[in-house]
Amino acid sequence: MTKRGVLAIISGFSGAGKGTIVGELVRKYDYAISISATTRNPREGEEEGVNYFFKSREAFEKMIDEDALIEYAQYLGNYYGTPKEYVMRQLDAGRDVLLEIEMQGALKVKERFPETTLIFITPPDVSELRRRLEGRGTETPEVIGRRIARAKEECAYMQKYDYIVVNDQLEDCVEQMHALLQSLHYAGYNQLDLIHEITAGFQDI
Ligand code: 5GP
Repeated sequence: MTKRGVLAIISGFSGAGKGTIVGELVRKYDYAISISATTRNPREGEEEGVNYFFKSREAFEKMIDEDALIEYAQYLGNYYGTPKEYVMRQLDAGRDVLLEIEMQGALKVKERFPETTLIFITPPDVSELRRRLEGRGTETPEVIGRRIARAKEECAYMQKYDYIVVNDQLEDCVEQMHALLQSLHYAGYNQLDLIHEITAGFQDI
């Protein structure tokens, strides 16, 4: 029987470097990554079906009605959601799946699937966060201000995460994340089949 993959959610302040880290994990270690649907406009360089599935509000609300999303949330006035079918198919095929989603969605997935691991990525401090957001060069000062205000609110929920990882040096952070993700395979809740098999072996004793 194929061992089911593990499901991990990566969240973090906007500008924490989650996208880059997840990209490196996929490139180096072949994790499966879910591509979200969103109603926000594409940023320069973003591609349909690569970064997101870009949807109208109407099309997104249809996905909600059809229960085609594991979770969805509104973030700064736009919908974001995780299409269900792809994630379930990858997990069943034994691949480890990463979801890069914000907190409201992360907590909803944990409620629905408690075996999900929540990992929060943070820069070392707030001045580094601001530097990274400004360095992107893709957002207006107003949007950067809103993202920092949102990050301040999000601090209150960091404790709900199973693991917090500091992204100081990118390469170190990627290796720490990979080690952490691999260790999840040994967790009891990810080895229910093995536990049942061993338990069954004792049946006639
Ligand atoms: P951005 O607009 O910067 O691409 O994303 C804004 C926020 O939405 C980020 O915190 C990102 O992790 C989150 N996000 C992206 N996809 C999803 C999703 O499918 N569900 C939820 N709940 N959040 C998402």
